[in-house]
Amino acid sequence: MELKERLFQMTQERFGRSPDQCSDHQLYEALLLMTRRMIQDRPAPQTGRKLYYFSAEFLMGKLLSNNLLALGLYDQVRSLLFEMGRDLGVIESEEPEPSLGNGGLGRLAACFLDSIAALGLPGDGVGLNYHYGLFHQKFAGNKQTEEPDPWLEEESWLIPTGRTFTVPFGGFELKAVQYDVAIPGAGNGYANRLHLFDVEQPADQPWVGIGFDKTDIAHNLTSFLYPDDSDEKGQLLRVYQQYFMVSAGAQLILQELEERGYGLEELADHVVVQINDTHPSMVIPELIRLLTQRGMSVNMAIDQVSRTCAYTNHTILAEALEKWPLAFIRKVAPQLVPIILELDQRVKEAHPDPRVAIIDGQERVHMAHMDIHYGFSVNGVAALHTEILKNSELKPFCDLYPQKFNNKTNGVTFRRWLEACDPELAALIDDCIGSDWRRDTRKLEGLLDYQNDKVVLDRLLAVKQGNKDRLCRLLWAAQGVELDPDSVFDIQIKRLHEYKRQQMNALYIIYKYLEIKSGKLPERPVTVIFGAKAAPAYVMAKHIIHLILTLQQLIEQDPQVRPWLRVAMVENYNVTWAESLIPACDISEQISLASKEASGTGNMKFMANGAVTLGTLDGANVEIAQLVGPENIYTFGAKSDEVIRMYAEGSYRPLDYYHRPGVERLVDFLVSPELLAIGDPASLSVLWKDMKSKDWFMALLDVEDYIAAKERAVHDYGDRHAWARKMLVNIAKSGYFSSDRTIQQYDEDIWHLK
Ligand SMILES: *Cc1c(COP(=O)(O)O)cnc(C)c1O
Repeated sequence: MELKERLFQMTQERFGRSPDQCSDHQLYEALLLMTRRMIQDRPAPQTGRKLYYFSAEFLMGKLLSNNLLALGLYDQVRSLLFEMGRDLGVIESEEPEPSLGNGGLGRLAACFLDSIAALGLPGDGVGLNYHYGLFHQKFAGNKQTEEPDPWLEEESWLIPTGRTFTVPFGGFELKAVQYDVAIPGAGNGYANRLHLFDVEQPADQPWVGIGFDKTDIAHNLTSFLYPDDSDEKGQLLRVYQQYFMVSAGAQLILQELEERGYGLEELADHVVVQINDTHPSMVIPELIRLLTQRGMSVNMAIDQVSRTCAYTNHTILAEALEKWPLAFIRKVAPQLVPIILELDQRVKEAHPDPRVAIIDGQERVHMAHMDIHYGFSVNGVAALHTEILKNSELKPFCDLYPQKFNNKTNGVTFRRWLEACDPELAALIDDCIGSDWRRDTRKLEGLLDYQNDKVVLDRLLAVKQGNKDRLCRLLWAAQGVELDPDSVFDIQIKRLHEYKRQQMNALYIIYKYLEIKSGKLPERPVTVIFGAKAAPAYVMAKHIIHLILTLQQLIEQDPQVRPWLRVAMVENYNVTWAESLIPACDISEQISLASKEASGTGNMKFMANGAVTLGTLDGANVEIAQLVGPENIYTFGAKSDEVIRMYAEGSYRPLDYYHRPGVERLVDFLVSPELLAIGDPASLSVLWKDMKSKDWFMALLDVEDYIAAKERAVHDYGDRHAWARKMLVNIAKSGYFSSDRTIQQYDEDIWHLK
């Protein structure tokens, strides 16, 4: 059927009218239904093994335009709407962004699903259907406030499956209802699925803010992603969520194995489970439980599961490596306790070293330890991160199982993060090197031939300028923030965390502000843009947001400074914002304390869109630096081995750096009369004291080097052709960071799906 007919049929069926009589939202809904039907009918790839990718988060972003692109219908739909006097861009903005994730880990899972389908591999996601997401961020009084973020409408991408599973908890049981989101493979006829489990009777939104009854598990289990876990009720709710997800997922795996005609003793031959960080770790004892319940011996069940499960580590931050009190598991899923005790006993008998125990002396279960002992693969997410795991963080494990450890440097899908979000850049690339790069991003290297082509460099600058202009209009419309499109756009967008060091960027703003106030006008205007959510219970992160918003207000009110320096923070940073911010970026801020950012994926998206990285030698920045060479990146700061040594010795003292001549005045500005007049004195002084006395992530150690490197970048920006050459080299070398490459490596080394 013709596309036009399909759309007419859909709007008639749904709204009893033709498309030109539909509102934007009705047209969006009609396109959603039409697209959903087309993908739903596609078959899943059929090969040997099937992958189940378990993750607490899938930060999918809006799906309409990506799905149309995957179906090869995007241009057709756009012209069809254009003929009717409608704009696909406007229709797309009607789509609510699914709030099923929080940051890089969830976005990685979404990129992986896209690449698995595009490569024609059989792999489904397994997660939870959170109704109110993480939270919707608003700013009030220069502070973050949190509200529920409902995203489910009457029609959404969810497909009811009719499948349910009973999940047994201590003292009661709940039915897990399975919904699917179809994931089309770009350029092939396949579709995989994201399975999202939900409770039968999810709570309506009866609460104010994001406070709710954390003990009403039956209704609230799927209300929020990462409910505030600063109290025991919140921690228990997380364990309920985790067990609900893995129990339903494990039951689905065994059901599908049977449907495919295989026996339980063939599990490892036909199934592989990837455990994305430790949140889904209970899938190991749960699978063992289900297999033994069905008559398999304990030894055989452990053997099968150990050959089925693989674990991805995402962090070396100690506080993020989950350790649940055994008592919590006894309350939530008592049937798992004898299995975990058995797994722990076997480890203790084979390896008396207490550092590798699953259950420690305080009766806490180390989830990562269980994954490593009873999984067949452990991977880090960038070369440096994997080396740190092997040589320090997980060294005792690597000594036991060197063959299990491997690296899989993260990647991002260029279909969303270049083709869809930066169509004009994509078209320019096509004009230079043809369109093969869209299937094989390594072909972007062909752009290197154009390094001295003034026409191409000028076009590249024009594309960037267009994206900056567009971002200015968006920010004005969304928040009434006015930016100067001719200034340098310096962008730091990522979760707010002290290790990511937004506070160090704030010190740069203060440096620049004081320079301008003292009469030293900079070479050119700079705009520093932030986007970041702070976890609701993360007090220090909220102080940092307050500092940034207070600086924004101070500068906005100052006619002497405003022409030269401006600060903007987007409200409710999410995938949709990222898709407008990244193409508009000149300088990509990747300034984590070396050794702390496992990989980063924002850094890759920026690079692919022609932003130049200003970063520490951390995570995948190290690989970016190797690829582009020192001419095309600005690196600074302490190296990871120095940082690791300082932590080991406990030798970092912020006061030593605070007292350096250039630093003290920046830090003290936090409690200056100017800032205190606008900001919350209590909040600012807590931050000030922390920076001087603790500074756990060593912002003062690197701040001078950071400011110098940023000033060099801002200076170099002035030679427009030299800068455009840096942009071009970054784009040309970014192809390595396609998640298609990452997934191919997972398949070759870990999954063996074909
Ligand atoms: C890519 C992405 C992230 C991860 O950014 P990092 O800089 O790697 O931490 C977080 N949030 C959103 C919305 C993203 O698109």
